[in-house]
Amino acid sequence: MACTAAYVDAVSRAGGDPVIVPPVLLDDESASVRLSRFDGLLLTGGGDIDPALYGQETRPEVAHVNPARDEFEIPLVRAAIDRALPTLCICRGAQVLNVALGGTLHQHISDREELVAHRNDDGSDGVLHEVRAQPGSRVMKAMGVERARTFSHHHQALADVGTGLVPVAWAEDGLLEGVELDDGWVLGVQWHAEATAAADPTQQAIFDALVREASNR
Ligand code: MN
Repeated sequence: MACTAAYVDAVSRAGGDPVIVPPVLLDDESASVRLSRFDGLLLTGGGDIDPALYGQETRPEVAHVNPARDEFEIPLVRAAIDRALPTLCICRGAQVLNVALGGTLHQHISDREELVAHRNDDGSDGVLHEVRAQPGSRVMKAMGVERARTFSHHHQALADVGTGLVPVAWAEDGLLEGVELDDGWVLGVQWHAEATAAADPTQQAIFDALVREASNR
């Protein structure tokens, strides 16, 4: 999933002023300068991260690797954390956040029979599954509930959690679906909150929280 209108709509409904930024070559310093105009950051879904960036050989199921996007988003999310910018990272975004902080991914979970479906077999669309959020976590406080039905469309998942990140949400099969920074409003969710936000207030509330945090900086 690329930057569909659903992200823009969810941020707009929250009262935010969304700006889409295309990938450009960044280093840590230029990433920080790039962010100086913004009050918050939203990393969207997309293809797989190059496994070399988390120290693994590439499995054959890895798809849609976009090195330019990896090289853009990893410095960007690190700079956002340095600047204490409220940051919401969705699906691939959550994986970028984790890898940027030294975490690793499961490269392909779709053939693990002990798991619920996290995408349709043909990869064309998502499925709904429940997530359970840690009481008191930022993501739980944003949603206002501990359990939510979420739109899932991923064949990879967070494995080892990056430095400073705390596991805060899980699918019903125990798969890690949410992490957040222990210090600062930086959330990574494996599910597509934007896909159901128009109809589900618990999911819109995640964008509302991002915009509220960004407004209060
Ligand atoms: Mn899922």
